[in-house]
Amino acid sequence: MIIVMTRHARDEQIQAVVDKIRAAGLSEHVSRGTERTIIGAVGDERVFSPDSFELMAGVERAMRVVKDYRIVSRDVHPADSLVQVRGLAFGGEAIPVIAGPAAVETPQQMAAAAELVSRFGGKLLRAGAFKPRTSPYAFQGVGVAGLEYLQQEARKHGLPMVSELLDVRMLDTFLEFDVDVIEIGARNMQNAGLLKEVGRINKPVILKRGPAATLTEWLTAGEYIAAGGNHNIIFCERGVRSFETSYRNMLDLSAIPVLKRETHLPVIVDPSHAGGKAWMVPALARAAIAAGADGLMLDVHPDPANAWCDGDQALNPDEFAQLMAQLAVLAEGLGRKLG
Ligand code: PEP
Ligand code: MN
Repeated sequence: MIIVMTRHARDEQIQAVVDKIRAAGLSEHVSRGTERTIIGAVGDERVFSPDSFELMAGVERAMRVVKDYRIVSRDVHPADSLVQVRGLAFGGEAIPVIAGPAAVETPQQMAAAAELVSRFGGKLLRAGAFKPRTSPYAFQGVGVAGLEYLQQEARKHGLPMVSELLDVRMLDTFLEFDVDVIEIGARNMQNAGLLKEVGRINKPVILKRGPAATLTEWLTAGEYIAAGGNHNIIFCERGVRSFETSYRNMLDLSAIPVLKRETHLPVIVDPSHAGGKAWMVPALARAAIAAGADGLMLDVHPDPANAWCDGDQALNPDEFAQLMAQLAVLAEGLGRKLG
């Protein structure tokens, strides 16, 4: 912690800060400048909050030196980490594409979706059995039966399955169905209870960025999971709320290089929830790969016009096939490969 004293701080005010630091078992480093005295608290600064100094007489401001996220930070782990899912790896040279419908609907719909994803090179199958809709009157997902339909098709095609966990009470059910990757959706990015629970298991977790979360808040949410012992975290940028209304969310491409610099963990992009319209998805997907994304998550539906959820942002089979062919060329040009 660095404590900057006001210009006219008195000696007894400086001494009070030093006493507080010593009382907590840390030591001080006092630097008396011509304008200001600056005091460094040397030791584990987590015992203090900056406000506890800022409330003291003669203190102008106090700030932490270390970040709130450590395990997920590149500071402690400079090399890229791979997150493995049934023989696939996120965070290396390969760029796996996760694809599937927003929601599980029927066994027939999942069968058609899985076949489509697998045929055109998708490597993981996504579908929500529980949907966090904006309106409580909108379709909420088919529930546990959805995990069953998803599992059946995922296993049949050898695709690991990805599904969103909304409620901590369903975690055991997700484990029973052996959901390979648990998605924590944007709306739950800072749901501390949920983050702590998925931190205690060893399944990979996709942590989507909250619609108005800063990168530091997002990384710190990842730290919640990591602090419980689960380091298999994949960060997923899916766009943030902005003043613009012509698309669903603003895809924050700048977040990709910044996050990749801050964390050793993989960073993927969901262009579907950013654009909100299928016609925008190819451009955003290409941009994400060009910016260094380690994977993509795409809404794909065998019949978007009749989808029960988010049909307007789902790629149809032809659009998906065409995009996958383009992305393969793009990835290769960048010295990577799809899958
Ligand atoms: C989803 O992946 O279906 C979803 C609800 O996404 P987000 O949490 O990013 O809105
Ligand atoms: Mn959705």
